[in-house]
Amino acid sequence: MNPHQAATHEPPLTGVDTAAFSCPSCNGEKVSLFHRVEAFPVHSTLNMKTRQMALEYPRGRIHLGFCPQCGFISNVGFDPDLIHYSSQCEEPQWYSPTFTAFARSQASDLIDRYGLYGKDIMEIGCGKGDFLILLCELGNNRGVGFDPAYVDERNFSEARKRVTFITDYYTEKYRDYGADFICCRMTLEHIHSCGAFVRMLRASIGDRETTVFFQVPDVTRILRDCCFEDIYYEHCSYFSAGSLARLFRDCGFHVLDVRKAYGEQYLTLEARPADTSTNAARTFENDQALLAGFVGDFQERVRRKMERWRSLLSAFHRQGKRVVLWGSGSKAVAFTTCLGIQREVEYTVDINPYRQGTFLPGTGQPIVAPAFLCDYRPDVVVVMNAVYVTEIRGELDRLGLHPEILTLESPFRKENPQ
Ligand SMILES: [Zn+2]
Repeated sequence: MNPHQAATHEPPLTGVDTAAFSCPSCNGEKVSLFHRVEAFPVHSTLNMKTRQMALEYPRGRIHLGFCPQCGFISNVGFDPDLIHYSSQCEEPQWYSPTFTAFARSQASDLIDRYGLYGKDIMEIGCGKGDFLILLCELGNNRGVGFDPAYVDERNFSEARKRVTFITDYYTEKYRDYGADFICCRMTLEHIHSCGAFVRMLRASIGDRETTVFFQVPDVTRILRDCCFEDIYYEHCSYFSAGSLARLFRDCGFHVLDVRKAYGEQYLTLEARPADTSTNAARTFENDQALLAGFVGDFQERVRRKMERWRSLLSAFHRQGKRVVLWGSGSKAVAFTTCLGIQREVEYTVDINPYRQGTFLPGTGQPIVAPAFLCDYRPDVVVVMNAVYVTEIRGELDRLGLHPEILTLESPFRKENPQ
């Protein structure tokens, strides 16, 4: 057996004793396991300097459990001690014009709707600080950002002098850092004890006038469309619109809004601390039965989808076609690890210069710049996130390349440029 073909969805999970697991969101005790990947690289965004490091990087268990009470999904096999976020972690999105335009539009919208001019903004999990800096630039705001992966050398904005960055996790010891607006984007899904975290944040806010803005991946889409590429070790917590809103209401917030964003991949929540009782749930939040339905046959649907991908990539390989992935983030790690991809894909492309020259965690493909493809001349490009397909097609056109472009949503039809 191939030692790196570590992901498995066999045997079925029936009969697994889940009595020991309680829900990290609502403390419910009926969590049931429904999906597992036995050996997944614990870091997807950490730069791997050598192929050997990429292949041999420590792996952990993904055992997804569903709480029928609140709809929350958690990796009950998660070990937080395996995770070490540092400046060597690289989130590639900000090099994409598509993502930058989305973030700028989102920042402008929040500034307009909440009157964020000359205010104090806090960001929990600010990454390299790009979004916080944007909020402070556009609204002349002051900021404080928390993230162990922050790197100051890359920050050249005039707003930098109004922002304090703390290279640490946000915990209750920082409760004196009050703010008019607290944002936390793509971070809550990395926190296993999410109930305890949101309660800690609510206690830290106290009776201050504060609005909170959270953004997480939407698990409803992942379950409905079998997006196995969106399940990885660093994401130990998975939310739907309902389970996200329920968590905040349970922790003493008045939920102002829950929306989908970015091609329906993200959920955003806006809330304010409530004095006594929180506002009533809206109809769409009652999604536990819908989620239970998706969870019921998820393992079998994912198995079928992965089989189709393996067959397709094997066929390309037999035909001598050169296949590359575009995107080296967590989706690529999940895609290659779960499918056990080896020689079927030789390279993965990334526009982030800090990713280029490193290797994909798990399966070890070299990460290359788009210009590399001029010599390599791929026959097929598999785009890891369909939201970037227009941008990628434009880049390939500029390079004079016209490979077949596949997305993960539509694996067996060619993308139509029109
Ligand atoms: Zn629960």
